[in-house]
Amino acid sequence: MKQPLVPKVEQLAPHCWRLLNHGFSMNTGLIVGQDRAAVIDTGSGPREAAGLYAAIRRITDVPLLVVNTHAHGDHVFGNGYFAAKGVENFHATAAAIEHLRRNGESERQMVRFLEPEMALRQGDHSGIIVPGNIVAETGGTLDLGGVTVQLFGLGPGHTSGDLLVRCGKVLFAGDLVEEGGPPNFEDSDPYLWAELLGRLVRECDVDVVVVPGHGNQVDLEFVRRQHREMLAAILEGESIVRSWPAGSFDPTAHQLEVLPYGPEQSTIFLQRLSETMP
Ligand SMILES: [Zn+2]
Repeated sequence: MKQPLVPKVEQLAPHCWRLLNHGFSMNTGLIVGQDRAAVIDTGSGPREAAGLYAAIRRITDVPLLVVNTHAHGDHVFGNGYFAAKGVENFHATAAAIEHLRRNGESERQMVRFLEPEMALRQGDHSGIIVPGNIVAETGGTLDLGGVTVQLFGLGPGHTSGDLLVRCGKVLFAGDLVEEGGPPNFEDSDPYLWAELLGRLVRECDVDVVVVPGHGNQVDLEFVRRQHREMLAAILEGESIVRSWPAGSFDPTAHQLEVLPYGPEQSTIFLQRLSETMP
């Protein structure tokens, strides 16, 4: 086994930790009850998962279950390592499970620099473990023993099957909220994502601590800004798409500059917007 990648560990609340994986700055969550603990997202492959598992075992020795916020490889490719450590229950939305079944193998390349064994499907724990516990569309709860965790979706957004995980004041938002980099629009529906962020802003308590999929934890005001920014980008993006000849995709450097997401994500944003525009 290659050297485990060691995460940075930070306690956010009495039962709640964030483990920051350095590779993609992806946040793994840990919620610990008296009987069980929930691990939220497992990293990009066996190297990150081994570092996560060792860090988690320094905090608790209770049995673990896994919740995957969505099906992107940097969040689920560590599942194989956790399965080998005896974890049996992996929770995700039906849409995320379908996405992982369909696209998991083709996503291996995204982790090639950080997790070469995962990218090449070589060595231990490099298989793709698809969650078997489907979270109902109406959401669900997990009783960890004296600590209750809420799982809920708000419809498609960053992907077709994003799951949010709440424990007390702490909300693990997966990639629906991004800090330190632009949102990733690759598999998104920008309209539904913006709508979902609006609901999140309306429904969350003002003192919520939001752990984004990547980067540092943020507050409700940050989510509100991301929502406003996405609404403004949609308006701007619609007028850009309408300026092109029908059926063409032709963003200019200037058009990309007026969008807030940098040239790469702004291009993908326009692509997804043009595909979902009414
Ligand atoms: Zn993602």
